[in-house]
Amino acid sequence: MGIDCGSQIILCDLPIRLDTYVGCSHACSYCFVKKKTDITDVKPDFSEASLRKFIAGGRTQSTNWCDWDIPLHVGGVSDPFQPAEAVHKKTKKMLEVFAETGYPFVFSTKGRLAKEPEYLNLIRRCNCVAQVSIASPEYDEYEKGAPPFAERVEIVRALAQNTRRCLCRIQPYLPQHHASIFASLEAFAEAGAYGVIVEGMKYQDKRPDTERVAGDFCYKLDLLRKRFTELRKEAHRLGMKFFSGENRLRGMGDGLCCCGVEGVPGFVGNTFNYNHFLFAPPQCESHGGNEAPQDGALLPRYVPDASRGEEHRPQLVRRGHNVAEDEEDSAYRLRAGEIEV
Ligand code: SF4
Repeated sequence: MGIDCGSQIILCDLPIRLDTYVGCSHACSYCFVKKKTDITDVKPDFSEASLRKFIAGGRTQSTNWCDWDIPLHVGGVSDPFQPAEAVHKKTKKMLEVFAETGYPFVFSTKGRLAKEPEYLNLIRRCNCVAQVSIASPEYDEYEKGAPPFAERVEIVRALAQNTRRCLCRIQPYLPQHHASIFASLEAFAEAGAYGVIVEGMKYQDKRPDTERVAGDFCYKLDLLRKRFTELRKEAHRLGMKFFSGENRLRGMGDGLCCCGVEGVPGFVGNTFNYNHFLFAPPQCESHGGNEAPQDGALLPRYVPDASRGEEHRPQLVRRGHNVAEDEEDSAYRLRAGEIEV
């Protein structure tokens, strides 16, 4: 697969990804990758030449839209620090190239190798932001191949001290574990996390409290908004940032790039995507969007599409008499059939 850009380009600021392995041995029961492919056969998949070519400005058919040093996202569909790395050392080779060139990247992991000195010494020399997938001790039952919660807190601690920023990915957010996730935020803050990224679980089939969004069944917006509001408040109380990986609620975050890289020197993402069209300031809550917009202003929102059942689609709507102002969170709610634009 090498360096590739997939369909997330329409939603994501950092859509160009690099994976050093095909497959993943963490065996998370909720893994979205294994819905598409067998991930149990773990193989190295890294070309130093391709990485050096990209860093030098070379592009392929899927990446030729980008003519700047966009940060690469490492570990989108496999874990770069999974046990296979101890054998193949492909991630180590990748880090050596990044350390040498200073090229920006974000990596996601649950792997314990990330906190070993062999890797930390390289990571420290890189221009990188780390993300550790971690939600609560109750998730250990879903992630039997990965280090347990307590050990992952230590991975957060090690990476927070050796990267530009380290964020905790609460992805997928599962409402039945809300209390445990809420209580875990304190451990993340204590370990030095810069912030948390939260995104609800997506299912292929209908489950309680879900609604259809594009091709998936996602937790209902009202449910997620309420829970995310609680998590955001607690994260802020603890001195952490909050980011919404949930596209419908992206504007709840302390930035529209849910990877949490805004403001890091050298990290320039692609803002030409739906989320920036939909939640651009001043509508974004983190940019003062809590103030009521004027009548007539165009508001980007995910709205129900009656022609497609419960499915929500992004649309621009004009604020005015058609917005149900008497309802809680009125800026997000529209009466059926009253969409003007
Ligand atoms: S770590 Fe990520 S890629 Fe690996 S099994 Fe878990 S969810 Fe899938």
